[in-house]
Amino acid sequence: MKSTVAIIGAGPAGLTAAYLLSKNKVDVTVLEADPVYVGGISRTSTYKGFHFDIGGHRFFSKSKAVEDLWTEILPNDMLQRPRSSKIYYDGKFFTYPLKPFEALIKLGIVRSTICVLSWLKARLFPVRHPRNFEEWVSNQFGKRLFNIFFKSYTEKVWGMSCKEISADWAAQRIRGLSLGSAIKNALLPQRSPNGDRTNVIKTLINSFRYPRKGPGMMWEACAEKVKAMGGKVEMAARVNGCAYDEARSTWTVQFKDRDGNQHSIEAEHVISSAPMRELVCGIRPEVSERTRRAAESLKYRDFLTVMLILKERNKFADNWIYIHDPRVKVGRVQNFKSWSPEMVPDP
Ligand SMILES: Cc1cc2nc3c(=O)[nH]c(=O)nc-3n(C[C@H](O)[C@H](O)[C@H](O)COP(=O)(O)OP(=O)(O)OC[C@H]3O[C@@H](n4cnc5c(N)ncnc54)[C@H](O)[C@@H]3O)c2cc1C
Repeated sequence: MKSTVAIIGAGPAGLTAAYLLSKNKVDVTVLEADPVYVGGISRTSTYKGFHFDIGGHRFFSKSKAVEDLWTEILPNDMLQRPRSSKIYYDGKFFTYPLKPFEALIKLGIVRSTICVLSWLKARLFPVRHPRNFEEWVSNQFGKRLFNIFFKSYTEKVWGMSCKEISADWAAQRIRGLSLGSAIKNALLPQRSPNGDRTNVIKTLINSFRYPRKGPGMMWEACAEKVKAMGGKVEMAARVNGCAYDEARSTWTVQFKDRDGNQHSIEAEHVISSAPMRELVCGIRPEVSERTRRAAESLKYRDFLTVMLILKERNKFADNWIYIHDPRVKVGRVQNFKSWSPEMVPDP
């Protein structure tokens, strides 16, 4: 079997590539390790009629082209959902994006005053060249607010100290966010005149799009469209090697099926969305020692999602709650019925 392009992984990256190539009449084969689900981390798992998003996937992009692509793939099933989220800290729930007066009351007058003084200090004497996340955020918010609203959650999510995370990453991740912009947002919620979203601060958005039955719906529809255009999507196909034959300008992509039998396909090009660390060790001819070592040094972060089905229907209305409390390991509680009523069988 020979395809023009072999694509490793049927997550958002692999399926988007497959969809756009298929639209341009390029013949593709997608090889997906999972036996059941497409969508990768953005899949929707199901159990007894309940749908579970394994991350909590907001569909929001500053790029109009990306938003338009989602509409094209799923024209009739995208909901516009209001965002409601909270931070749990010190036994209290703080609305997030923060409401300054609520935060002031819940923190108490003494702690709030210390936070303001700490912010003033950061404005007057900022770290000149912030090197890490802690220094960058402290420059924007002051050390006290950093400790309360950023440190524990960020360290839970990324599994490393805020001193080890680079300032560049903070700058792109929470671009535009500062105490001033957070207060401005609380008083005057963000608008995007003429649909221009380039200056919207992502963490403060007050609504987002979401497929009726979770993010997997987008990628299931995408896979169906790829197949309808003649592309192939092979499930339970775990790629374990990619060998390039220069004389024939051809890749041989090897994979195991669900019974452990080895197969291969040939392709002119390969697009991979598999983890770099795994991909690199299966490439032939072998990559340079430097590349191999760089790939091996990449760190990955596992996460565990615990799904609970509650008998009590209206426990809370928020989409999610960030758990900043450092005494527990959990980082976020999601309430998928608030993301879309169709995530539960009988809302
Ligand atoms: C907790 C959490 C919350 C998130 N929230 C959001 C959000 O709100 N909005 C948003 O846009 N994004 C969010 N994301 C990010 C989003 O999930 C990822 O950006 C997206 O899924 C990445 O897509 P991908 O195709 O690159 O990789 P993946 O989703 O990881 O897909 C890769 C696919 O490749 C397959 N694969 C891997 N190795 C092989 C192999 N050897 N052979 C064959 N197949 C293989 C995997 O099984 C998988 O299906 C969140 C992520 C997490 C973890």
